[in-house]
Amino acid sequence: MNISSLQVGPIGTNCYLLCDEQEKTCAVIDPGGDAGRVAAAVQASGCAPCAVFLTHGHYDHTGAVAELQARWPGIPVYLNHRDAADSSDLAQLFPPVPGARDYDEGDTFSVGGLTVLVLATPGHSRGGVTLRCGDALFCGDTLFAGSCGRTDFPGGSMDAILASLKRLGELEGNPAVYPGHMEPTTLDAERQWNPYLRQALHLERG
Ligand SMILES: [Zn+2]
Repeated sequence: MNISSLQVGPIGTNCYLLCDEQEKTCAVIDPGGDAGRVAAAVQASGCAPCAVFLTHGHYDHTGAVAELQARWPGIPVYLNHRDAADSSDLAQLFPPVPGARDYDEGDTFSVGGLTVLVLATPGHSRGGVTLRCGDALFCGDTLFAGSCGRTDFPGGSMDAILASLKRLGELEGNPAVYPGHMEPTTLDAERQWNPYLRQALHLERG
């Protein structure tokens, strides 16, 4: 398993390539913009793209999808249905992702020989998911190094994100955490230092 990242789009969203180097296959997580750079990174990896996974439906995570679908005809794109735009006043924040397939809690996908498991982690948005692959968590905007995602957008909920953070914090071991913005971290570091995760785990007074 090899994980690489590039920052894309207007507000520096982390796009990740999850590669099975043996099988020369990769998944693209959150191509938020700059389709040409994302496609170049995939080409440089030597891996064929097999899927696009969206951690949630915000425009800064989905912006390059249509162009990548045009470059890679037939590639499946997954987005939880709760984040699919359903009314025009939300279309700016949740632009439609034509052809996106629904995925949800407990679904699993193969990326070459790797297995990706979907965990529903709402709070930043209703349809937010975390993708788990081995000892790596792709959390989108649920968990950041030292922080968590905003909950003041439509569909956001502080109670829900605390429940999601609790769930992530209670996972076994010390997985690597690849968030939707800013630098990667580890679950142990966040258990120790992240005030939101600590509040969720009742390690400090909320
Ligand atoms: Zn977001």
